[in-house]
Amino acid sequence: MTNPLKERLIAKIKAEGPLSVAEYITICLLDPVHGYYPTRDPLGSDGDFITAPEISQMFGEVIGLWCIQSWQDMGRPETVQLIELGPGRGIMMSDILRAAQLDKGFLAAVHVTLVEASPALEAVQAKTLGDIPCPISWAASLDKAPKGPTIIIGNEFLDCLPIRQFIQKDRFAGRGGWQERMVALDGKTLRFGVSPAVISEGLQATLPEAQEDAKNEDLLEICPANAQIVDQIKQRFEADSGRALFIDYGPEETEFGDTLQALKRHEKVGVFSDPGNTDLTARVDFGALVELAKAAMLPVTTAVPQREFLSKLGLEMRAVALSRAKPESKDKIARQLHRLTASDEMGELFKAICFQSEGLGLPLGFREMA
Ligand code: SAH
Repeated sequence: MTNPLKERLIAKIKAEGPLSVAEYITICLLDPVHGYYPTRDPLGSDGDFITAPEISQMFGEVIGLWCIQSWQDMGRPETVQLIELGPGRGIMMSDILRAAQLDKGFLAAVHVTLVEASPALEAVQAKTLGDIPCPISWAASLDKAPKGPTIIIGNEFLDCLPIRQFIQKDRFAGRGGWQERMVALDGKTLRFGVSPAVISEGLQATLPEAQEDAKNEDLLEICPANAQIVDQIKQRFEADSGRALFIDYGPEETEFGDTLQALKRHEKVGVFSDPGNTDLTARVDFGALVELAKAAMLPVTTAVPQREFLSKLGLEMRAVALSRAKPESKDKIARQLHRLTASDEMGELFKAICFQSEGLGLPLGFREMA
């Protein structure tokens, strides 16, 4: 299906001038009429990309154990808001709640809230989670979700939040010299350009500390929504106890370079090739997340590789138990385990990070607080 979004973007740039990369991503992913997420279910082997919960039920199940442990660490509050950001098809939540049967007290305390931008996916979630044994509702954003002791989870949520890109254009790479990368026109084709003005000092102050090490032509990305999320988590955890777990792909420390990528049917394609019909994501800068949390005085762990995190949660033991229960699926389960943990698959590139309220110990699966 051809998507009229490209023509609309071209007309918009012609009329109003170049767009920031973040504006471009926002329109492509979230335009209510022609955007990527609102108009389809992009997940699974028939879709454009596949995620850990879609690969194996074991992923959500061990996260379920993590949630039980967190609730216990929080002092077993009578009610706990279990909030998932960007729940996709609802598979992870359904696996979490199945594992949660292990602790009936936890299950009785859980109220589920899903934060989902796509009406199409919200409908799929309602179907997947139609018969769960606890109350469930949807909220437009994290700050609209019910208050109280909270566990927040988000798998492959942060990578689809829009990023801005800046290029160091000062030959001597002084402290200034950052110019914003823009989406502009070359005749009737979309292309990258660079805004002629150097960014303001205020904006520059939001770049991660690695900006100090930039060389001429280095590109740095920021995800402005990260600051908002950290801020909202901080406010929530100041009022009530809680933990927030995010799993996503990206480096432990800030790295230079353009990481924006488009995927269609599991293949990388050009970011301007088919706006609105391709998924756009960027690597999550875990170093920048830690910096933001520290600046907000919000306790945060260092990021750990997915392999290590899942292994500490007992993923291998879960695989053995499942294989015993279903010997005919032994090979399939071994392949799933490999995809989730091998270093040439998701094991190293994907990381887990956890924010939490003051006074809780080290969360399960992590090495240390940052
Ligand atoms: N967590 C799921 C899906 C990941 S895909 C999984 O692991 O399978 C990203 C999800 O985030 C989708 O559900 C998408 O619709 C949702 N999403 C993207 N941008 C969003 C935003 N700004 N607010 C809320 N949800 C968003």
